[in-house]
Amino acid sequence: MKTARSGTRLPARKAAGTPYFPARPSRADSFTESVIREMTRLALQHNAINLAQGFPDFPCPPELKMAACDALHADINQYAITWGAKDLRDALARRVKQYNGMAYDPETEITVTCGSTEAMMAGLLATIRPGDEVIVPEPFYENYGPDTQISGAVPRYVRLGEDFAIDEEAWKAAFTKKSRAIIINTPNNPTGKVFSRSELSFIADLCIDHNMVAITDEIYEHILYDGKRHVSIAALPGMRDRTITIGSFSKTYSVTGWRVGYALAGREITSRLRKIHDFLTVGAPAPLQHACVTALELPESYYRELARDYDRKRKILYNGLKKAGFSCELPEGAYYIFSDIAGFGMDDVTFARHLVEKAGVAAVPGSSFFHEGGKTKLRFTFSKKDETLLEACRRLSQL
Ligand code: PLP
Repeated sequence: MKTARSGTRLPARKAAGTPYFPARPSRADSFTESVIREMTRLALQHNAINLAQGFPDFPCPPELKMAACDALHADINQYAITWGAKDLRDALARRVKQYNGMAYDPETEITVTCGSTEAMMAGLLATIRPGDEVIVPEPFYENYGPDTQISGAVPRYVRLGEDFAIDEEAWKAAFTKKSRAIIINTPNNPTGKVFSRSELSFIADLCIDHNMVAITDEIYEHILYDGKRHVSIAALPGMRDRTITIGSFSKTYSVTGWRVGYALAGREITSRLRKIHDFLTVGAPAPLQHACVTALELPESYYRELARDYDRKRKILYNGLKKAGFSCELPEGAYYIFSDIAGFGMDDVTFARHLVEKAGVAAVPGSSFFHEGGKTKLRFTFSKKDETLLEACRRLSQL
């Protein structure tokens, strides 16, 4: 057949209304849109209080806004170096050494990404070949299901048991010859679990025995309660060069819309990850990277106050949920309460819709944190002003 350019006719459409390009199966068919983001849209539609999506309704520190404005005025408005502005990578290296006890070379081992969301995707694409298995502990942050599928991996889910404990025998059985990576998230969304050093050592041993990579999302590393301490699995013996540690400015500095995160990994993994990152996004927003240096210069008291404020908020929401008849525990970290709704006699999706429409409070159906199940769970965030939480509790108490 001659080409359209040479003047010959293009193939005729089969029939009016038939798409020119027939819908062919794609990776995007294997997962749905984000339920968390959908709940935000529903909350807006019904003018409900959004306790679904984890973002603050209070301002970020004023120093950060000033620094972002300064950067714009100083014309830091063009592409930054693809793997991150040098001053930000240098500041991250210092901070990670101080807080996580890990040394990373800013020239070859630190990559600034568009949020931890991109870091996770780039990390998987950099380490996975299609068909490899990725271990995903569940319940899990909703993105990890699609992330593994987009990367061509086969997710293997391992359930956390009662009290979110690790069932060691079940976990060992899930690791196979095809296992290539495990996704860890501590402090955990949605459960609030903070993995202990001994749990992480157990996981580290499995990774070493099976020659696997740990991809660890530590976005809530500063939001801890009741004296809990954050442990990075990369700091455990034998793990540094087989771990991608993911962090973000989103939650620690209340700037979820800035889209600045980072990935720490040994030289070999980083060189692959940087290539993926470059072709995915080129780079994170340059002026905001500059402002993130200011974030990393905040005094230690900032982190203490952040944890103290969230501790107060978690108690407000916890008390409100209990009073309204929800069954729940105080989380150890992060800013969510994963409640049980079995007593309400509705499944999670029906109940979440009911809450948005009738009570004016949005939460996330539990099933979006499981590949199967979760229908008796609902997740609420307490990353909101005290008065927002109190009003949400008032509305819930009238259920
Ligand atoms: N990882 C976890 C565990 C989260 O809870 C969230 C947001 O809620 C993200 C990643 C997204 O982070 P970022 O804004 O850095 O892309």
